[in-house]
Amino acid sequence: MEQLYLCAHCGEENEIEIEPGDGERQRLSADCVGCRQVNMITAQYNFNSNEFDLSVEREIPESL
Ligand SMILES: [Zn+2]
Repeated sequence: MEQLYLCAHCGEENEIEIEPGDGERQRLSADCVGCRQVNMITAQYNFNSNEFDLSVEREIPESL
């Protein structure tokens, strides 16, 4: 299903496709359409609303 989230970097509204069959709790990453930075998204299925509750964090850059 498609759900909206707000970019943790710039606040831009983005859509993300979440596959319910992949589990009730999922960790996803997605590039913002606005600022192109990476968001780390935790999706937790909410059985009351029948949607995923999303929490969005900025990706912590890994040192190479
Ligand atoms: Zn952004």
